[in-house]
Amino acid sequence: MDKKRILLIGTGGTIASEMGDSGLVPELTSRQLLRYVPDISGICTVDCIQLFSLDSTNIRPEHWIRIAQAIHECYEKYDGFVVSHGTDTMAYTAAGLSYLIQNSLKPIVLTGAQKPIGYETTDSKQNLRDAFTVAASAMFGVMLVFNGKIIMGTRARKTRSKSFEAFSSINYPIVGMVQDGRIFQYIRPESSAPVRFYEALDSKVALLKLVPGIDCGVLEYLLERSSALIIESFGVGGLPVYETGSFYETVKRGLDAGKTVVLTTQVENEGSDLSVYHVGNRIKQSLPILEAYDMTTEAVIAKLMWILSQTTDRAKAAEMFYTPIACDILSVL
Ligand code: ASP
Repeated sequence: MDKKRILLIGTGGTIASEMGDSGLVPELTSRQLLRYVPDISGICTVDCIQLFSLDSTNIRPEHWIRIAQAIHECYEKYDGFVVSHGTDTMAYTAAGLSYLIQNSLKPIVLTGAQKPIGYETTDSKQNLRDAFTVAASAMFGVMLVFNGKIIMGTRARKTRSKSFEAFSSINYPIVGMVQDGRIFQYIRPESSAPVRFYEALDSKVALLKLVPGIDCGVLEYLLERSSALIIESFGVGGLPVYETGSFYETVKRGLDAGKTVVLTTQVENEGSDLSVYHVGNRIKQSLPILEAYDMTTEAVIAKLMWILSQTTDRAKAAEMFYTPIACDILSVL
């Protein structure tokens, strides 16, 4: 049987970094990365492109669009895609690509590393091998492969800043594992519609993490400057009631001005449920806000960027927000 053809897209990150005068800088191209793992030629044939060489701290939604465009341009030519990327914002890019490329029946795999590929002790080589193994498999859609775990692109989060076990799947099981070159697939997401590519995002999405005693003026400031504001509140969710300023009124003014407001939780696992407490229920019952439920904040951010690039109609935006895409949301209604 012919080997699968995979496109490796380089974007930078620690995996491609070398030590400079003031710390690690992404230098290596995707072709140079591949030379460190010659055994990948036993898995598939690989073509390489280098889109940019960035620490992922510098990656923005416009870069997600460029990655999606690169995949779109040669979608027919390849059986799968590997995107090597910095780990710091990889979960955001994975979410972004999950909305920009929907219903892909080919695997689109993001990976990277906590240690550069040139280091004696590194996770780079194994992560690349695993990513190519998944990209050359019958799995499909946008996934993040790291330290043997296969995670849905809409469910990934960086949960460790230093160790190799850097990513977790939030509120959703991992899709599978790669061990010694073999894939153990636990979940088979469905896809019946044809692949669809999008080219636009509204990047004016802001996130506010509440802290006890927060000044309501911060909320006002962010609402004025963005199309959508996500409020990471406490526990299952709610807005504080302080004598110093009305969060409720501020959110209402923002909504009246056409802004989108989403309430979510800063608790990592199990999601929001605004119906439980008065502080949440009052706002959910009386204002047209959205609720994130079990979605990750990374996915909420990317989904809002995708939605708001297409519509500003509140009802349509809400319908799109609550419609599951790539397993991003489960517990609605
Ligand atoms: N700062 C790096 C980046 O995100 C970290 C990494 O790749 O692990 O580009």
